[in-house]
Amino acid sequence: MRHDTLKTDVCIVGGGPAGLATGIALRQRGLSVVVADLAHPPIDKACGEGLMPRAAAALRDFGVALGPSQAVPFRGIRFIGEGKVAEGPFPHGYGLGIRRTTLHLALAERASEVGVQCLWGARVKGIGPGEVCLDSHQVRCRWIIGADGQNSQVRKWVGLDRGRPQVIRFGFRQHFRVEPWTDFVDVHWGSNCQIVVTPVSPNETCLVVTSRSPQLRLNEALKQFPELLRLLAGSPCITRDLGAVSALRVIRRVCRGCIALVGDASGSVDSLTGEGLGLAFQQAGALAEALAKDDLARYAVAHRRINRQPEVMSQVLLLMEKHGWLRCRALDALAREPHIFERLLSAHVGAFSPLEVGFGNIFKLGWRLAFSA
Ligand SMILES: Cc1cc2nc3c(=O)[nH]c(=O)nc-3n(C[C@H](O)[C@H](O)[C@H](O)COP(=O)(O)OP(=O)(O)OC[C@H]3O[C@@H](n4cnc5c(N)ncnc54)[C@H](O)[C@@H]3O)c2cc1C
Repeated sequence: MRHDTLKTDVCIVGGGPAGLATGIALRQRGLSVVVADLAHPPIDKACGEGLMPRAAAALRDFGVALGPSQAVPFRGIRFIGEGKVAEGPFPHGYGLGIRRTTLHLALAERASEVGVQCLWGARVKGIGPGEVCLDSHQVRCRWIIGADGQNSQVRKWVGLDRGRPQVIRFGFRQHFRVEPWTDFVDVHWGSNCQIVVTPVSPNETCLVVTSRSPQLRLNEALKQFPELLRLLAGSPCITRDLGAVSALRVIRRVCRGCIALVGDASGSVDSLTGEGLGLAFQQAGALAEALAKDDLARYAVAHRRINRQPEVMSQVLLLMEKHGWLRCRALDALAREPHIFERLLSAHVGAFSPLEVGFGNIFKLGWRLAFSA
């Protein structure tokens, strides 16, 4: 087979949200970019399909314009369970519910608009110094970026730490043809699973179930949530169930030589945080900034800063997921003290630092967790 050779500043392995966002951010700084992905757009993936406000703002910075039929704004997060409802509106801005395929198409279109050369249906088979080998091409480049998801081959080829996954869970997603009944992302807490409900268009709602069981599908899990079944009211399910692994995986080193990792390839957080895409977009900006300044070490530092807080939030949510008594008390405390939920959420979405949650509020929450009946 004839191998064409392409030359570029940066070659990105993986054209998912992280790879495309990085490509766009690099073009915005004047570097030439090739992105290679083994699949074709629109690439689907099991996802809660909620972009937190920071991720929605990053999309706007990348110049990705979305119309009202493509995405639905939501104004906060609601925890529902144990007979309680805790509501946390965002302090500023709004999140966006968007079908994964719609998001991917919008990013892919913007990437080609700004001059990213996208090679679809192109599997990367290996990398060498300044070189990426595809089925039918060879790409010569200065920098190689691994944006090839959780089981990153680039991470393996370059010998970067796999990062032991701390907790592995499983998510299954389906869409229903029903007008959204909420302008929040609702997280329904059950005894062994959670169902996240995200409005994704004026007449479509996404439901994803997450649990520690690879067998638990949405239709089985829904039996635990009669209120949700009532709201769905027999609405037609319009997509087949699609599964993915949700892992909290912390990776200490994300760069080596002229190679860097971004998105899930560089570590991931539990899907309940709703932060995977937001992290990928922030990392994309930081990585482009570092490459434009010819200084990858900057990216390593920024990556640690970007990931730290969502990793901690993953641990907290996973404790709630694992221990029924803690879940019960936490939901009760957050429902009784809505301002604390609001402040915790504000810290989570980066509106202010965790210290600004306030020692008084932390003490009050701790008291309720320890002593509420
Ligand atoms: C159940 C679940 C729910 C979630 N819900 C949310 C949510 O509501 N909000 C949120 O922000 N995040 C959510 N996430 C996280 C989010 O989906 C991920 O963080 C995001 O997909 C990461 O994007 P990525 O581009 O890094 O990886 P991916 O989306 O996995 O893309 C990797 C790409 O690399 C390509 N690739 C792999 N190997 C090769 C190769 N050798 N050659 C060429 N191409 C290759 C693949 O085809 C793929 O397109 C959720 C995750 C799960 C599992």
